[in-house]
Amino acid sequence: MFTRRCQRCDRPLTSDHSRCPDCSSWPPPLVQVRALYLYEGPLRTALHRVKYGGERRRGEFLGELLASSAEVLVGNQCAALRCVVPIPLHHTRLRERGFNQSSLLAAAVARKLALPLEDGLVRLRATATQVSQDRAARWENVAGAFAWVGQPLEGTVLLVDDVVTTGATVIAASEALITAGARAVIVLALARAAAV
Ligand SMILES: [Zn+2]
Repeated sequence: MFTRRCQRCDRPLTSDHSRCPDCSSWPPPLVQVRALYLYEGPLRTALHRVKYGGERRRGEFLGELLASSAEVLVGNQCAALRCVVPIPLHHTRLRERGFNQSSLLAAAVARKLALPLEDGLVRLRATATQVSQDRAARWENVAGAFAWVGQPLEGTVLLVDDVVTTGATVIAASEALITAGARAVIVLALARAAAV
């Protein structure tokens, strides 16, 4: 079945919602979210195996899939991109998992688009896993959770995440990128969750 998606945040829209409830309050520097898949079915299973089953090579494969579609998904804004930045894990979670799934995705995208991969975005605190949280808690959870510790940024940054749900994480990360000098942020995600 064809699903209409929000032009700005890629959220699937139901026929009785002509306006998207997710992104109407997002701050303007975050231009848009572009996601390759909906977060469901086999893709959801595959991503769980990467994140919670330690299947790093599967994550690299998903990165190649995302990279092969990146230019089409970002479209004519590709020319404005200056670098690719992954959503980071907090260092304690990185230690547990051994790798950051978003870094695997971002590395493949950066190679494909011939852009520098910048890893100056850091997560300042170990936020609780969002899976079990309601919408309001997710926003509170990640506000101010990120900081930029790399060289000053400029132009448009392509921020890469594995799954965008409410947008709370990518908004909080975008704010850190804008503070560091980025003019705008475009989010490229492997998957877009329909709703919380
Ligand atoms: Zn939207």
